[in-house]
Amino acid sequence: MISNAQFKRLAKKYGTPLYVYDASIVERQFNALKTAVSYEPKQIHFAIKANSNLHILKLLKKLGANFDAGSPTEFYLAKKAGAKNADISVTGRNFSTEELRYLLKNNAVINADSLSQLEAIGKFFSPTGSTSGKVALRINPASGAGHHKKVITAGYDSTFGIYYRDTGKIKKITKKYNLKVVGVHQHIGSGILDVDSFFAPTEITLKIAREFEDLRYVNIGGGLGIPYKPHDKPVDIKKYGAWTSKKMRELSFSFGRDIILLLEPGRYLTGQAGNLLMEVTSVKKTPAGELIAGTNSGMTHLIRPAMYGAYHEVENISNPSGKKQKVTVVGNICESSDVFAKDRQIPFISEGDLLAVRDAGAHSFAMSSRYNGRLLPAEVLVQGKKDKLIRRRDKFEDFLV
Ligand code: PLP
Repeated sequence: MISNAQFKRLAKKYGTPLYVYDASIVERQFNALKTAVSYEPKQIHFAIKANSNLHILKLLKKLGANFDAGSPTEFYLAKKAGAKNADISVTGRNFSTEELRYLLKNNAVINADSLSQLEAIGKFFSPTGSTSGKVALRINPASGAGHHKKVITAGYDSTFGIYYRDTGKIKKITKKYNLKVVGVHQHIGSGILDVDSFFAPTEITLKIAREFEDLRYVNIGGGLGIPYKPHDKPVDIKKYGAWTSKKMRELSFSFGRDIILLLEPGRYLTGQAGNLLMEVTSVKKTPAGELIAGTNSGMTHLIRPAMYGAYHEVENISNPSGKKQKVTVVGNICESSDVFAKDRQIPFISEGDLLAVRDAGAHSFAMSSRYNGRLLPAEVLVQGKKDKLIRRRDKFEDFLV
């Protein structure tokens, strides 16, 4: 764990706001998942959308990860991180014709998100149905789960994937274009702490997988949550791993050959490794008497609280053991939703204090923007005693291009 003294030193060296990642936590999480899911053969495909910093991707690659790309740019990043084209899964929706062409020309196997995308992939490979291309299917297995309704990506009213009842329609299209279904995929949602939520949808996806004789792999998606709140229980990774491994053994047995298991986590691998350091620039009280600590960061750097009402622990690195007081920590953006923490008990905060927003290693910097003309923060990777700048802070000039 990075100490408060180290945080202070990094803030001084690189300035704030600053994202700081702890490589040892990424490694711990990767190994925990790899060990818990004993099934082989398997591949862990880090979902780049959770954290697209090239140095984090290279770290994961070194640990043994491959990647899931949600866009052509993420596919390009995966390649830059050292992955072979064939080892990158692609899960994205509503690709344009040019995007599809780029991906398919690079031999990407796409998890088709809709029947129309499946048809477009078929047309690319074989307008006449004479040559065969490979494809995978993103199935919507009837139910999903997640920390917020905005991150649930399966279910009757979900806009993601091909509904599980549509296998007849899938087969018509794959026959027409001579497409080989080599993979079946699901991603039911994000930030799931109760692993039982995976079981019913995964049963459906595995049932569908049995219908495709060319099947090489099943991708059960990401979605494993992390404990953000002090009383959140970590996911029961052993139960998840044991259940998944058993089901995959049964699947391989029924095919009479090994089917590869793909896992596609984002948050579970990098979420707890990230911290957003920020400085307190003002302390004031509202007319209603609410104590407000204003900072030099904001929702442009970490939008999860504004977007989903997400909870992140905020610690006062400058005064960790001071007397606690009720305070609301806000950002520097002109939106009333720009609140990091509402009415929290945090050790006494003064102007100039250094605060750390915890568990900000996934879906955090990756969702940042330059709204309000705010500069994107720098990012630093800590590996043991060493620290390295892995993305420089924005400059005014970056707004000119
Ligand atoms: N796979 C897909 C298709 C996703 O959309 C996402 C997240 O949005 C993930 C994987 C990773 O999810 P998580 O970070 O919850 O593991």
